[in-house]
Amino acid sequence: MTDRPGDRGARKDSPEFETTAVTHAEQPSHDERAGDVTMPIHLASTYEVDGIDPDVSLEELDPEENQYLYSRLSNPTRHALEKRLAALEGGDHGMAFASGTSAVVATVTASVSPGDHVVAFDDLYGGTKTMFKELFCDRLDVAVDFVDARDTDAVSDAVRDDTALVWMETPTNPLLRLCDIEAIASVAESVGATLGVDNTFLSPYFQRPLELGADVVVHSTTKYLNGHSDSIGGVAVTSDDELADEIGFLQRVGMGNVLAPFDAFLTLRGLKTLPLRMRQHETNAAEIAAYLDEHEGVSRVYYPGLRSHPQYDLAERQMDGGGGVLSFELDGDLEVVQRFVAELDEFALAVSLGGVESLIEHPASMTHSPLTPEEREELGITDSLLRVSVGVEHPKDLLADLESAFERLD
Ligand SMILES: *Cc1c(COP(=O)(O)O)cnc(C)c1O
Repeated sequence: MTDRPGDRGARKDSPEFETTAVTHAEQPSHDERAGDVTMPIHLASTYEVDGIDPDVSLEELDPEENQYLYSRLSNPTRHALEKRLAALEGGDHGMAFASGTSAVVATVTASVSPGDHVVAFDDLYGGTKTMFKELFCDRLDVAVDFVDARDTDAVSDAVRDDTALVWMETPTNPLLRLCDIEAIASVAESVGATLGVDNTFLSPYFQRPLELGADVVVHSTTKYLNGHSDSIGGVAVTSDDELADEIGFLQRVGMGNVLAPFDAFLTLRGLKTLPLRMRQHETNAAEIAAYLDEHEGVSRVYYPGLRSHPQYDLAERQMDGGGGVLSFELDGDLEVVQRFVAELDEFALAVSLGGVESLIEHPASMTHSPLTPEEREELGITDSLLRVSVGVEHPKDLLADLESAFERLD
């Protein structure tokens, strides 16, 4: 996993990843009046037009030409963010939503019709799994089969001629399971299905599914892309013009759940440091994973950057880094887990991930509490499992905090 996006020279005639993250779609010339070097927060809900011209259709208004009509349809701050996110994922179209959840629901809705079949990873983000079951299956007559996509054969066995969508996440939450995007892309293609990948856990800095054959990528920008735990948002990126039209219709008209200008500004600002943050998240996570792996108070560590990860070879091939999230099993019961977490100072007990500060959470009672105990057992989520979103603090302080919590357990 030494191949950084900036090293691979895949896009020779465009700037490197780090440069795109800082300035793409935010050049000083964008606002000709003041020459701001950053995109202003455009709060206006509506824009003055040049005059009444029955020959100009609203569809033809081009944000690239600074033509705006109404902010739900297009807004300069949101437009800059959408362009930058598309560029970072290597896609042609980006659409920013009010949450990751709304990016997922719009992308799935754009890809399926009632009566269609979907194949999805059985280890999806909780909200997405509930959405598939309770919205698409129960109310919209879409059949969804959940399979263990670590095994590509399970995906090829499940797809059918009427499969319209294959939906993947990799690595998954909280057990950091991987699926082979490139192999699954050819399975999806063989039945003419769209492949969507939720790339939230790694960000485009460490994994770019479109390059591996996915048709559309979504993110909860709430996590690494914004990176500071102060905004809820989402994005869908694709190079498929037709799919982009469908998702764009849902974003602007069908659902109208666009990202607000202030959140677009925060995310544009967060993106500038994405490569720096991701490198530090990974360095810190790798150190903590290695420390926990050796610790006698820990029975198991899940981190794709560890050689002991069962899919380490796939991680090496598919990802440019192990990311910043890891999980581990404490050697003890729920009471030991409660005491351990209470002893930590540097890791706030909180759900979510991808911010600069370290967080720890207990999946069984927090993110995965809506599941039944049987469902949790089937997935391998025990009462002694903890998930850590490793921040960008100095690793020495994080390790010392963990060490003192272990010492006080004895
Ligand atoms: C958080 C998350 C979501 C949902 O995003 P929101 O911004 O909370 O709506 C979807 N997928 C993954 C993998 C997530 O971590």
